[in-house]
Amino acid sequence: MPAPLRRALSAAALTALLLPLGCSTALTTKREEEKLMSSSDDVSKPAPRWGIVIHGGAGVIKRESLTPEPEAAVRAALAEALQAGHAVLAKGGSSVDAVTAAIRVMEDSPLFNAGKGAVFNHDGKNELDAAIMNGRTREAGAVAGLHHVKNPITLARAVMEKSPHVMMVGEGAEAFAKQQGVELVPESYFFTEERWQALQRALEAEKKQQEAPPEPGQPQGPSTFYETPDGSDHKFGTVGAVALDQSGNLAAGTSTGGMTNKRFGRVGDSPIIGAGTYADPRCGVSGTGHGEYFIRYGVARDICARVEYLQLPLLEAANQVVLDVLVKAGGEGGVIAMDSQGNVATPFNSTGMYRGYMGPDGVPSVAIFKE
Ligand code: ASP
Repeated sequence: MPAPLRRALSAAALTALLLPLGCSTALTTKREEEKLMSSSDDVSKPAPRWGIVIHGGAGVIKRESLTPEPEAAVRAALAEALQAGHAVLAKGGSSVDAVTAAIRVMEDSPLFNAGKGAVFNHDGKNELDAAIMNGRTREAGAVAGLHHVKNPITLARAVMEKSPHVMMVGEGAEAFAKQQGVELVPESYFFTEERWQALQRALEAEKKQQEAPPEPGQPQGPSTFYETPDGSDHKFGTVGAVALDQSGNLAAGTSTGGMTNKRFGRVGDSPIIGAGTYADPRCGVSGTGHGEYFIRYGVARDICARVEYLQLPLLEAANQVVLDVLVKAGGEGGVIAMDSQGNVATPFNSTGMYRGYMGPDGVPSVAIFKE
């Protein structure tokens, strides 16, 4: 077969291979084509399939108590967040921009435990944490214990890009926000009746427990960290996003109000790099669940380390940590994860996890239960 014909046929075969995997360019220039053909080692590898995966929290989400209206509202909010991230990626924007855009949408929604819908701490205040990491550069920014920052993910990003530090907390972080022109709001902005009532129920149950402590040998308090003391249905609502951009770079971010009735300046895993949030050139992860376990087991980094050192497929690495390591330890929750080829994993060991994915085709796929 003459060489030009052979080349044209193999280019067609390559295009056929790449397109179903979501390669964004059907039309390659002559030079690009030749470059692709000359690096025969690369031909078997699919091109990175850019996209974004998000979560809106994991926990006890009972099918029977999630009525159609709130379910539709959550699904719509997740789809809106996916669209915001996807719009950035589709025009060639960075994964860091996409993660920021998607998380800001969820922070502005009262439906999630982040930004506007954040839970109340023991003192009746909203106390917010967030982190973001750029997988390509391994730069990271994290903030914790915020009371006035409308979009904590934006402040985390400012820490990453506009300071020599990785983490800032409390008043110092808010002073930095002011200096950087990051939007501050009065504490009342974060008030939502639903979260306020959740705190009242938690305080009431705590009081009852103190008045009548369980007999020695009986369980001390709720059987799981995330079971509400009054046994009512409970979902968390922390938000996160992991994106792979068209240049093949990953980023991950997470934002949360932590847990209802938290006290003493408690900080969970979300703003801890390697625990609730992590990204490197191969792998990005955002977690949600019982933060103390995610910190102790370095969940996000552990998943990416398995991908890096053991060369496990992403799904296997994420499943091992969430469905085995965490389950054995008693740590409830889940993660969203993505690798540098655009493979996605969303394992969770709780009854549900709000989650969604959008790839190059721009079709949102959103799920809550083990569907
Ligand atoms: N992981 C968060 C924390 O422990 C809470 C959550 O994901 O619901 O603060």
